[in-house]
Amino acid sequence: MCVSGKCLCGAVSYQVDAAPIFQLKCYCTDCRRTSAAVHAGLMGLPAEAVALGGEIREYRNCGDSGREVTRAFCPTCGAGIYGRNAVMPHFLFLRASSLDEPDLFDPQMIVFASRAPAWDAVPPGIPAFPELPPQS
Ligand SMILES: [Zn+2]
Ligand SMILES: [Zn+2]
Repeated sequence: MCVSGKCLCGAVSYQVDAAPIFQLKCYCTDCRRTSAAVHAGLMGLPAEAVALGGEIREYRNCGDSGREVTRAFCPTCGAGIYGRNAVMPHFLFLRASSLDEPDLFDPQMIVFASRAPAWDAVPPGIPAFPELPPQS
């Protein structure tokens, strides 16, 4: 599977030649604040499979998981490109909003569903966890 995407202004782009390992929608408070769309669609891939081009800025904070989360964005247009989290340091979670072909995104799981506001309810038919799935 070949995945490509870019930010709004095109200064940041990426190409991936690997299949996504996780595809999920995250309704956590921080994804709401950074996505402008309540939730973030996230496509998780091995970090080394993602070839990034352009200057990227990162913002780190403590996520709803209690662990550090990094969100990367274009410093020119502000579009979100990917996230990383300390729980799964070898994965990079591309923001589905940045995909050149958004229909490649096929979410299999919803996390932090308990944070969804009434005006953007969690869709039926996809396994939804109130917080993160139980760690095994
Ligand atoms: Zn940009
Ligand atoms: Zn989130």
